[in-house]
Amino acid sequence: MKKIALLGSTGSIGTQTLSIAREKKDIQIVSMSCGSNIDLFEEQIREFNPSLVSVADDDKALELKNRISDLSTKVMSGMDGLIEVATFDEAEIVVTAIVGMLGIRPTIAAINAGKDIALANKETLVTAGHIIMPMAKEKGISILPVDSEHSAIFQSLQGNEGNRIHKILLTASGGPFRGFSKEQLNNVTLEDALKHPNWNMGRKITIDSATMVNKGLEVIEAKWLFNVEYNDIEVYVHPQSILHSAVEYEDGAVVGQMGLPDMRLPIQYALYYPKRLPMTGDYLNLFDVANLTFEKPDLNVFEGLGLAYKAIKIGGNMPTIFNAANEKAVALFLDKQISFTDIYKYIKTAMDSIELISNPDLDEILMTEQNVYKLLDGVHNA
Ligand code: NDP
Repeated sequence: MKKIALLGSTGSIGTQTLSIAREKKDIQIVSMSCGSNIDLFEEQIREFNPSLVSVADDDKALELKNRISDLSTKVMSGMDGLIEVATFDEAEIVVTAIVGMLGIRPTIAAINAGKDIALANKETLVTAGHIIMPMAKEKGISILPVDSEHSAIFQSLQGNEGNRIHKILLTASGGPFRGFSKEQLNNVTLEDALKHPNWNMGRKITIDSATMVNKGLEVIEAKWLFNVEYNDIEVYVHPQSILHSAVEYEDGAVVGQMGLPDMRLPIQYALYYPKRLPMTGDYLNLFDVANLTFEKPDLNVFEGLGLAYKAIKIGGNMPTIFNAANEKAVALFLDKQISFTDIYKYIKTAMDSIELISNPDLDEILMTEQNVYKLLDGVHNA
């Protein structure tokens, strides 16, 4: 039995992880958490019977406790509950399927408790990669990428241990606004931005894909996961989302992973690594796809990617400033309080204003996040 702690079971990655657990009979979900969707969470608890669960909000946790009083499942709440779920004694692998910097503390706690991490929550590595990667190495635990691009890179590295990576080819769909001009981008709506052409994902990452901030976060995530310099990571806009990313070696060989856009494959690969198990659903038919195309990203229009390269080049807490500003701005955009291109303006304002710390510890990272939020609240309310 594979014993799994699942952070964010009600979200896009969370529900797909559970669909794999439902199919494969050797996965046991021993602990899991959600934010506020306790209706779906209750159904999941009744189906998977975890020993421990946690809900972000205290009142909702209490309501859930009453609803499932016929079960022996323990209910917790808040950050303490999230950390307990992540470090639950029986769990061997923790799937981090929550959004944002919220994931840092439970991920670090899980590593300290000796759990392997199936990492979807990229914001954690973007902001605290310099703490997490050495810690994982020291504890001898594996960080298995769930992000499709990083899973593709990880798969392309198998059998090539010891060979130097010359370049990483990180693919991007280009999102719903590929080919747009700056002027066109000024007028897009929330509804437009939520229509991703190839992937069905949570709301925050869908907006990040439309701004291409997501690709910036992924460049930083790849830097930490694969120990490469940021300027050895090249972004290719590949609208068909068939080549999920590739590695170029020193002999010029480019090894990549292709497949239909379906997150269940990278999730399953992370859970069963190094095994490949059968997968239900359609397989890739290259005759149907016919054309695979690649373009350079337009950094002038999609400023998010250029700002991410700038943040990683500066280093220190700058990736945290970049990420926290984006989290705040996307929340405001999702609430229809700012425009799409304001997201870039908010990120730039934070990157220009917040004090740089060269080698931030965990407290300084979390303090930077708070300072960014305070600054942008001020900008927004001015
Ligand atoms: P979703 O928004 O779909 O799900 C987020 C999960 O986190 C939900 O279970 C939600 O609970 C929970 N949550 C929200 N707020 C809190 C809180 N305060 N405390 C605890 N839990 C909370 O996100 P995704 O699944 O799309 O993304 C998860 C991560 O995976 C992100 O970092 C994303 O970048 C990454 N990723 C996602 C991909 C995808 O295809 N979706 C692809 C690659 C990476 P509730 O629903 O109850 O509010």
